[in-house]
Amino acid sequence: MIEIRNLSKHYGNKDGIDDVSLTAEPGKVTAFLGPNGAGKSTTFRLLLGLDRQDSGSALVEGMELRKLAAPLWTVGAQFDGSGAHKGRTAKAHLRWVAQSNGIPHSRVQEVLDLVGLRDAAGKRVGKYSLGMGQRLGIAAALLGDPRIVILDEPTNGLDPDGIRWIRTLLRSLASAGKTVLVSSHLIHEVEHVADHIVLISQGRIVRSGTVPELVAGYPDLETAYFELTGGTPAGSSL
Ligand code: ADP
Repeated sequence: MIEIRNLSKHYGNKDGIDDVSLTAEPGKVTAFLGPNGAGKSTTFRLLLGLDRQDSGSALVEGMELRKLAAPLWTVGAQFDGSGAHKGRTAKAHLRWVAQSNGIPHSRVQEVLDLVGLRDAAGKRVGKYSLGMGQRLGIAAALLGDPRIVILDEPTNGLDPDGIRWIRTLLRSLASAGKTVLVSSHLIHEVEHVADHIVLISQGRIVRSGTVPELVAGYPDLETAYFELTGGTPAGSSL
């Protein structure tokens, strides 16, 4: 369970996030959706303990992440690409992450298979495409077989096959009872996979619920998304 309550963080006097509340439950995929600059990364940084909020709380299993003793067993997060050194191979990177978290090396091959990087495991990360880097970041997040999985824009750089693969992965994680929180700026990428969608715009939550709940009062999901967030349905990157 992830519980974010009244979280605020300001840069200067207006940018950042304001009074953000969000709950992600076990067994469900929760999508955190909003256009670029809406405040998704700021929220994730605070949740992951990479920055300090001005006020409010962000708890994972009832605790601040920085206070969890062995976080990778509890929380797997992919944030800002893979974070791997460009000169290392994917396998070496994952072995290093596994070793520093007391995770057996046998798990490295399992996650490489899970994310479809088996054949590219010996390649240097600097030679990876954006999509391969995303897969590596996800592999590292899943190393500890965590109960909570947090993925930041995981479909960035993936081709349609990769996007389909992510959907299947997210559903299977949720079916296994895990709490899955995933950010996106593309409504079409989450509408068929998310049980619960939280919409953020200009640092504030503007609506949350299931797809039918979000659409209520609008002709279709695209219009609802556009009018509630000011973002374009396809996202500005396409
Ligand atoms: P998103 O992840 O949804 O694209 P962000 O959380 O990165 O959005 O940004 C939310 C707002 O906060 C934006 O207006 C952005 O410019 C601002 N912001 C984010 N990080 C910083 C920072 N380190 N310093 C100043 N402003 C920031």
